[in-house]
Amino acid sequence: MTLQCSPLASLQNGHWFKFICGASFQHLAAIRSLSLVYTLAGADCIDVAADPAVVRAARSGIEAAQNLLKANSSEPIPQVWLMVSLNDGEDPHFRKAVFDPHQCPTNCSQPCIAICPAQAIAFSDSLHSGVIEERCYGCGRCLPICPVGLIETRSQIATPAAIQPLVQSGLVNALELHTQVGHEAEFRALWIQLQPIIRDLDILAVSCPDEEGVLEYLTTLYDIMTPLPCPLIWQTDGRPMSGDIGDGATRATIRYGERVLRSDLPGFVQLAGGTNRHTVPKLKEIGLAIAGVAYGSYARSLLTDIQAQLEAIPQSSYHLEDYPDLLNAGVKIATQLIEPLKEQPHYHGK
Ligand code: SF4
Ligand code: SF4
Repeated sequence: MTLQCSPLASLQNGHWFKFICGASFQHLAAIRSLSLVYTLAGADCIDVAADPAVVRAARSGIEAAQNLLKANSSEPIPQVWLMVSLNDGEDPHFRKAVFDPHQCPTNCSQPCIAICPAQAIAFSDSLHSGVIEERCYGCGRCLPICPVGLIETRSQIATPAAIQPLVQSGLVNALELHTQVGHEAEFRALWIQLQPIIRDLDILAVSCPDEEGVLEYLTTLYDIMTPLPCPLIWQTDGRPMSGDIGDGATRATIRYGERVLRSDLPGFVQLAGGTNRHTVPKLKEIGLAIAGVAYGSYARSLLTDIQAQLEAIPQSSYHLEDYPDLLNAGVKIATQLIEPLKEQPHYHGK
């Protein structure tokens, strides 16, 4: 593997593409398909929940993609890092919607079904009445739309202990730590718990939303983490889990990324939270040289129909590579999202 086709080189050259499956998303068949398609399309990193079953599904998708690439090319197979997300406390990325469907008024028009971007709410199947837990990724859009306020959220805290053997065995290459301004003590405690596996990582990311005092907070985190045994990414989570909502969702992360980039913080700067097809054109327009972009809800929404078609096939194997027309259609869609970033001739590495 040469540096030219490594994820680290992508960061250094400003071409890093991370696909975010979701810190709470646990739909294993979809995770395998998404990891397969985005690996084939050229992703540098796949970011998933800290759940061993999810990690295995994503790794299976990546390996299926790499086997296809090996069979069809004599070129070196691009490396893909598998990242898992951990949180240091309450965080909207780490929650599930919950409600008791028996309490729904019989005359409710069920607006929660249509608003859910993950098709995670259903009433038609007795096995799946209410929230389909593995599909919910905690976006929260169903909460305000329920006319009787029935929907709540249940927080999840991912534990480093569950992920330790996966890092030590090499299945997981990278960690992302989700934090918020004011969580210094919680972050420090998480950092201490992670010490046995930090040296096994290829990269570490810190994801933080934009709040008052964020640059000072990130500086404090850097002091806690130093000396670091691996490169560091600052993920500027502008408008979390909103890239599929509308074109303008990307503005917040670009503004935030620009501020972090202009600060003196060492590390790569990568956008997330509201990223979509407008992100790279906007970056080119303003000439902002970031290390890369992570796409979550928008990138997943592009492939919703492909996964639905896969699941609708009678006696489906749920392995997208067994259905080449569907696979190729998915890769074409994903490639259209990745290509503008890979063409971006930016440099950022500090
Ligand atoms: S709208 Fe969001 S929070 Fe509600 S069920 Fe769907 S994915 Fe979960
Ligand atoms: S909107 Fe609220 S009351 Fe109506 S079906 Fe959905 S959860 Fe039930």
